[in-house]
Amino acid sequence: MRAMRNGSQQELPQLSSLTVAELKTEMESLKEPGYRAKQIIDWRNKGMLNPDDMKNIPIALRVKLAIAIVFEPLQLVQRQCSKDGTRKYLFKLTSGKQQGKMVETVFIPEEKRGTVCVSSQIGCVLDCPFCYTGTQGFDGNLTSGEIVAQVLAVKYDLLKEPVNESNAEILHSHVTHIVYMGMGEPMANETGLHESLNILLDADGLKLSQRRITVSTSGLVPQINRLGETSAVNLAISLHAASDALRDVLVPINRKYPLEQLRQCLDAYPLSAQRHITLEYVMLEGVNDRPEDIESLNKFVNRRRERINLISFNAYPGNPYEGSSKEHMNKFAKQLISKGIRATVRRSRGQDIMAACGQLKAEGIAA
Ligand code: SF4
Repeated sequence: MRAMRNGSQQELPQLSSLTVAELKTEMESLKEPGYRAKQIIDWRNKGMLNPDDMKNIPIALRVKLAIAIVFEPLQLVQRQCSKDGTRKYLFKLTSGKQQGKMVETVFIPEEKRGTVCVSSQIGCVLDCPFCYTGTQGFDGNLTSGEIVAQVLAVKYDLLKEPVNESNAEILHSHVTHIVYMGMGEPMANETGLHESLNILLDADGLKLSQRRITVSTSGLVPQINRLGETSAVNLAISLHAASDALRDVLVPINRKYPLEQLRQCLDAYPLSAQRHITLEYVMLEGVNDRPEDIESLNKFVNRRRERINLISFNAYPGNPYEGSSKEHMNKFAKQLISKGIRATVRRSRGQDIMAACGQLKAEGIAA
């Protein structure tokens, strides 16, 4: 049953999207003391969304609250663990308009950082031809609560079972970074994006620094402008081609916002000292890894403000592309560097569980 307030059509607020002030208002309407709001949010921030875990909250209040708010907007359906420590989670949405639908989230443990890759939509409308998520079609936006709940669910999982890596240097039990690079185009879900950022950055919320959050977009120019006006999180652009003819094919949103518009937008994007914009570039053999592609990048990239991340293509059944070889990717990177462009080859993670870049697709979506 979809959670509704007082039997009306209004949907219940999700605990993962509430500020302390908003939960205090809920407490007042339930005639409960306001200080309980902070206690509940403290549990929430640790990833403990199950009211049974909130030991300092009276049972009667937990029962009352369960009628007024959604405690757990996501239900874990499946967790897969890669041999490299990466974890992929499949969640079912428990409330709201998208109840019953599925999303995927990935946790990537690395030396000195633990990154959660969140989904912002169910599927994606943009249909980039190399992307597995795009083949799913679009089935709706996630709420801010459902985006934040992905982070909280990973925190909870790590609390219960840290990643068992033999390399002691790997920080395996903490979430330190968030990337909006899972299913969907975050900027096509602007409300969900901005509201979830507010909770992740909130001093009473997850308290993450803006420097530890990256929003990735295929290049929705007006939305990039608005993000720059309101936030100083990191920006990544799914570039994948630096000529309009090729980008129109690989990233079809380019037909609406061609490279010249994107160039102007990125040049005007507010960046403080030492910060840069990341240009993501998935390498497809014979498609965008040719000498002329080096030349297109040479003309497009703003060397002072941008760097290129070369990503290996992760094949999936039925796709028409082949990934460039490791050797070719390294050579391509060297050629860019020789032109004064900062370029790195990104190590692919979680390939064996289809958790790598462009491989997310929530199978078995409920109707
Ligand atoms: S690459 Fe990103 S924007 Fe393009 S279809 Fe996949 S999820 Fe959507």
